[in-house]
Amino acid sequence: MSSPVTPFEQPIYVTRPILPDLAAFTGRLKDVWDSKWLTNHGRQHDLLERALAAYLKTPHVSLFNNGTIALLVACRALELKGEVITTPFTFPATPHVLAWSGLTPVFCDIDPRTMDLDPARIEAAITPRTTGILAVHVYGTPCDVAAIQRIADARGLRVIYDAAHAFGVEVNGAGIATVGDISMFSFHATKLFHTAEGGALAFRDPALKDRIYLLRNFGIRNEEQVLLAGINGKMNELQAALGLAVLECVPAEWARRERIFNLYREELAGVPGITLPADLPGVRRSNQYFVIRIDRQCFGLSRDEVHAALKERNVHARRYFSPLCSEYPCYRELPSAAPANLPVAQRVVQEVLCLPFYGALSDDDVRAICGMLISLRRG
Ligand SMILES: *Cc1c(COP(=O)(O)O)cnc(C)c1O
Repeated sequence: MSSPVTPFEQPIYVTRPILPDLAAFTGRLKDVWDSKWLTNHGRQHDLLERALAAYLKTPHVSLFNNGTIALLVACRALELKGEVITTPFTFPATPHVLAWSGLTPVFCDIDPRTMDLDPARIEAAITPRTTGILAVHVYGTPCDVAAIQRIADARGLRVIYDAAHAFGVEVNGAGIATVGDISMFSFHATKLFHTAEGGALAFRDPALKDRIYLLRNFGIRNEEQVLLAGINGKMNELQAALGLAVLECVPAEWARRERIFNLYREELAGVPGITLPADLPGVRRSNQYFVIRIDRQCFGLSRDEVHAALKERNVHARRYFSPLCSEYPCYRELPSAAPANLPVAQRVVQEVLCLPFYGALSDDDVRAICGMLISLRRG
């Protein structure tokens, strides 16, 4: 075991994808070869769609080639127009999907505790042009879905959840995608469950199933009819076969990460200036990120200084989701992007640091990373 300040010899990245046993994957590939069917709703695709509906405890799941296209289709399926209220504290895909749909993102500030869109700030951002809310369960922490739904119902708005971080999250036993109109999941290799690239929409309304099916496949109904201006959002058989193999590994990976999550919290408990993720009552975690917050005053070093110091020791933590989306050149001229409109997000974005978090990380690695962090503290 290395001493706290000894750099790692090999780089420790923030995550590592689940790689199923190669034979388990090639066994499924053999089925694809035998079928001579590579894409367009094949057997692997249908198996994965059913398996995920069960896993996510959601009535309907539609698979996609990636999460961003899935989110584009969600906006189109709900016929959003004009302005959509969203969070600046997210991955670029969230506001970009609105921009690509000809919609105007309207940024609202976040809750200082959950780091999700703050419902108390939504009402004031609604205008006659507002048609929807695109909220994100950041780091898998569920949004205040009851408050968001109350506002949406009162004002006639649609609600889409970017659940890219919330695979497998449950609130009091209910799947996270059973709220709002549509939820989007990303199956990118950096997410806990993945298909290398991929994604899905999950929803309850059966009427959406057919519309999403058409939008995902160029609007093609049959050989004679193309019903609407769709796109190509289909997941192919190779992705779906990988997904079926990865899904088998998810319970063990989740359990190992649960152990690492608790080990990090034990090792870093009581360190002044470090805020650890809290347990949320009734919530089953996604275990996709382990995020700490660093208070510069109290820790004696800024988050950026900690990030750089860890990097020197070969620990590649990530400052997700810095910079704020409202700071990108494509959005910063929007009135809602003004820093004065987003004081909480401005502060939080300077505090967050995602630590390495994946099942193959050993307990000793976790302890060494914590030792490094503690040794960095000044004061
Ligand atoms: C990963 C991610 C996406 C994009 O998903 P892709 O599958 O990579 O297109 C969207 N939103 C959030 C919050 C993400 O983290």
